[in-house]
Amino acid sequence: LLSKRLQAVYQMVDKDTRVADIGSDHAYLPVELITEQVANFAIAGEVAPGPMSRSKEDVEKFGLSEKISVRLGDGLAVIDPNDKIDTVVIAGMGGILIQKILSQATPEQLSHVETLVLQPNIGEPLVRHWLVDNDFEIIDEDIVAEDHHVYEIIKAQKVSQAKPLNAAQFLMGPILMQKKTPTFLAKWQHKLNSFQKAVENMKHAKKIDQNKIDLMNQDIKNIKETI
Ligand code: SAM
Repeated sequence: LLSKRLQAVYQMVDKDTRVADIGSDHAYLPVELITEQVANFAIAGEVAPGPMSRSKEDVEKFGLSEKISVRLGDGLAVIDPNDKIDTVVIAGMGGILIQKILSQATPEQLSHVETLVLQPNIGEPLVRHWLVDNDFEIIDEDIVAEDHHVYEIIKAQKVSQAKPLNAAQFLMGPILMQKKTPTFLAKWQHKLNSFQKAVENMKHAKKIDQNKIDLMNQDIKNIKETI
């Protein structure tokens, strides 16, 4: 059974796809995608040898080796153009690492990729910037709360030219801003309170960083206009 967070990631994957789950750890997601017949083929990519070999044993034990290929490697290096991977999932890492992994991918590794499903634990705006800069358009987003943390899931599709986003959309997510779910509203009410407190503290600091205050005030304005 998947956690609420991984279940939300799973929901974003289209049927009849060929998926690479990068940083798969225990390979729970590929196992669920294949056993539920959502994906036709999956690569579980993992840079750490320990989790990789454990996943390999599990996949063999469940008799799934034909449809799940467990591979050791850094980022998208586990993808070969012959795999015809059309969907890449990267979940459960920081936005900086997700952005780094995507930036290091070669054109060959991304050649068949039409869909990205990304779940940064933090640093969501960085991920949205990479998507827009690389012509992936955000087509769906979800937000879930689990164990005192709020997770955002971003689904994007390759297009010839991605539409630009404004500062509020990079911060809060263009689709999440439309959906305005209770979890979204609670997250940004909480952030608004802490940003306002932070600005007050910065104003009374010995050395005032006006640039930082201005940037935070811009975020505060955008949040207030949205929620
Ligand atoms: N994706 C799973 C999930 O969402 O539950 C596991 C997340 S786990 C916190 C992050 C995993 O990414 C770790 O197993 C780590 O070894 C792996 N990882 C980190 N950097 C990586 C990279 N450059 N390439 C492949 N895997 C990586």
